[in-house]
Amino acid sequence: MSKLMALSFIFSALLGFNIIYLSVAELQRFQHEAKADGSLSLLVIGDWGRRGAYNQSHVARQMGIIGEELDIDFIISTGDNFYDNGLKGVDDPLFYESFTNIYTATSLQKQWYSVLGNHDYRGDVEAQLSPVLREMDSKWLCLRSFIVDTEIADFFSVDTTPFVEKYFTEKEHNYDWSGILPRQNYLSNLLKDLDKSLKESTAKWKIVVGHHTIKSAGHHGNTQELSSQLLPILLENNVDLYINGHDHCLQHISSSESPLQFLTSGGGSKAWRGDVDWWNPKEMKFYHDGQGFMSMEITQTQMDIVFYDVSGYILHKWSKNKELHSTI
Ligand SMILES: [Zn+2]
Repeated sequence: MSKLMALSFIFSALLGFNIIYLSVAELQRFQHEAKADGSLSLLVIGDWGRRGAYNQSHVARQMGIIGEELDIDFIISTGDNFYDNGLKGVDDPLFYESFTNIYTATSLQKQWYSVLGNHDYRGDVEAQLSPVLREMDSKWLCLRSFIVDTEIADFFSVDTTPFVEKYFTEKEHNYDWSGILPRQNYLSNLLKDLDKSLKESTAKWKIVVGHHTIKSAGHHGNTQELSSQLLPILLENNVDLYINGHDHCLQHISSSESPLQFLTSGGGSKAWRGDVDWWNPKEMKFYHDGQGFMSMEITQTQMDIVFYDVSGYILHKWSKNKELHSTI
């Protein structure tokens, strides 16, 4: 090999490395310690911000009671945080009216980890992501895609709204795509980052959170873009749960093809009574077309999921065991 060729080879390799390095940015990671005994408990709520209306305040009250009972460590919001059109800016009073002044119970003054929903994209997205809101209410934290690392469980939050084609073509609503375009680069980088982070994860439980459904019998139904682009990555990496909102219901669908469970917690305020399609009863474990929320208790060997209605009554329970040491 001539000196010139060798130099050009090294230069290309360096350039290639730089390109790869730039396109595979790490997802932001937050460490959240589990309890001293290694267990973790949390609540999941979605589709909520309506100034307390449509039973939002009632659900909040029951979350406070269950949150105290379970001594929760944090709360996950599956998005559509502020209706109808997200926040207008960091000084939008809706932030206090729909969040700070609603979730007032002592047990709920924990870290909230929130993703964005399609309604949030109709407002000033950067406002919800802004550290200014975190200064106004320290329990608030919203990012596009990120990881909460609790050692026993890793929670991978994925920004699902930019996957959905119709938001880019429909005329009746405006979406704030700042920070997203060019869209295909954004999506392919996000999927690469997620895949890499899932492969590197050594946590016993792998949980992925997004706003949009992958499987749902509710009003919106399945999200095709996620079935084709996100689902294969979850299956390949042995993800235990996919948790979403978007459909205003509580729902648990299992799969005959894999251990992956699909959980919808989108009952934070307005619900769509009776708006449900047929689903194979072998897979449909539970569907509730009213308001409510979900709790999770996790240890190294067991995960317990419970769904509650607007009055705090338990509607559905599901548990999964994992051996302490894999026998494979
Ligand atoms: Zn939605």
